[in-house]
Amino acid sequence: MNACFCCQPKNLGRRALMASAVAVVAMPAMGQTVPASGGPVDAAVIEDLVAGNRILYDQNVVDGFGHISVRHPKDPNRYLLSKSMAPALVTADDIIEYDLDSNPVNANGRTSYLERFIHGEIYKIRPDVMSVVHSHSAGVIPFADTAVPLRPMNHISSFLGDGVPVFEIRTAGGPATDMLIRNAALGKALAARLGTHSVMLMRGHGSVVAARSIKDAVFRAIYTEVNARMQAEAMRLGKPEFLNAEEAAAATKSNEALVGRPWELWKRRAMGK
Ligand SMILES: [Zn+2]
Repeated sequence: MNACFCCQPKNLGRRALMASAVAVVAMPAMGQTVPASGGPVDAAVIEDLVAGNRILYDQNVVDGFGHISVRHPKDPNRYLLSKSMAPALVTADDIIEYDLDSNPVNANGRTSYLERFIHGEIYKIRPDVMSVVHSHSAGVIPFADTAVPLRPMNHISSFLGDGVPVFEIRTAGGPATDMLIRNAALGKALAARLGTHSVMLMRGHGSVVAARSIKDAVFRAIYTEVNARMQAEAMRLGKPEFLNAEEAAAATKSNEALVGRPWELWKRRAMGK
């Protein structure tokens, strides 16, 4: 996958060259097509993706379940996601590349997450999204399972101000699914429900966060959970006052420049363990 393509004959497309390189590595079974790779990925991107996995565990967003992906930095039609495993244990060697139909490019015997379609289908319809987090964090579930909307309690959670839809799997999958987004049709329905929002809850399941970078996605996943716990507590005390739309928009703009600060702290804590 680290082959140099700049020296190849000009009459061969880059995709065709990648495909031939991958075919040698992946050895697809008879009749099975392995998608072409988007090309080598900078080590820094992989490092951030691994750190994102560890941070989300350390900050109580994921446990043995949940995942974070990043769109391939050089090919918008590919994304990167760990093999099926607990996020806290992910290393660089566990990262698999997928096409947007969520077919693995370089699995090499590694097992994929059942719910990888969440990622591929969101990347298909949201060109602005570069990273997606899916989790089952406990604080948000009450808002997914009741009619109480999740709304921004403070300036750090202002990104919730553009609304938080809830995905009802029965609408797309009927009354007897196992609740998992285990195929492209369910992933497509989920992505459509997310629309232009950055956070969506999943009834009886968890949540999805979509953002412009790994750091932003981790930031939003953490503060979605924090906000949910704050809101539940505030509602026990009385009727909360939420950020209005103008406050939420202004705070989100300010926060965009500050995401790197908590990231460094979270990363040091999570990677030191
Ligand atoms: Zn799930």
